[in-house]
Amino acid sequence: MPRKTFVAGNWKMHKTTAESVALARELRQLLAQVRDRVQIAVAPPFTSLHPVAQALEGSNLEVAGQTCHFEVQGAFTGEVSAPMVREAGARHVILGHSERRQFFGETDETVNKRVHAALKAGLLPIVCVGETLQEREGNRTLEVVSRQVKGALAGIGADVGKTFTLAYEPVWAIGTGKTATSRQAQEVHAHVRSLLKELWGAAADEVRIQYGGSVKPDNAAELLSQPDIDGALVGGASLKAADFAAIVKAKG
Ligand code: PEP
Repeated sequence: MPRKTFVAGNWKMHKTTAESVALARELRQLLAQVRDRVQIAVAPPFTSLHPVAQALEGSNLEVAGQTCHFEVQGAFTGEVSAPMVREAGARHVILGHSERRQFFGETDETVNKRVHAALKAGLLPIVCVGETLQEREGNRTLEVVSRQVKGALAGIGADVGKTFTLAYEPVWAIGTGKTATSRQAQEVHAHVRSLLKELWGAAADEVRIQYGGSVKPDNAAELLSQPDIDGALVGGASLKAADFAAIVKAKG
């Protein structure tokens, strides 16, 4: 069965609650007609999660958290737990985003703990992996991505694994306007798929692998035409309704 394209917008630390709801409403209108063709999610900041989920209720747009803590509750000032994210209305959660790894000290080990916590809370993980420019230039891309995939997915079986989304996001392409060529991206996506096959066998064919890194309306179709690129995780361009809608519709 072909994998359904899955496009998610990561709003990062952008948009007040009022702005978030306005963007969600605009997207709801623009994307109503792609209901059965593409799965769509938006990841607003935590403060907007619940209002955006309400604004999108009954639509074909789903909501994602941008991370979650691995404990259910406790003395972790500033953190939000997986059950809290789920209860606020999220169906998915982005985990291990490179900005979380770079600025907030997340490691393969803590990403794995978050993955387990998310599943326990009924959230579907979108697990991000990707190499830095230095690692790419040192020919270490596949080694780094292998370590991140195996680390994040430790202890996860095939039956659960097939509900996962992986996102390959080369760090040098995030927010930089530089995009991996479709060939560079496909090479890593095929590698990720082969790792998933080692872990989960045939279930790996059901896992969507998104590409992320300066995806825009003018490069989305080319990227999404690759056999192992099953969607996109979009940062900057997801903040403009028309651009995000064009990316969602890019596959044709
Ligand atoms: C991201 O942060 O996941 C991302 C891909 O950002 P951008 O599209 O802005 O490069």
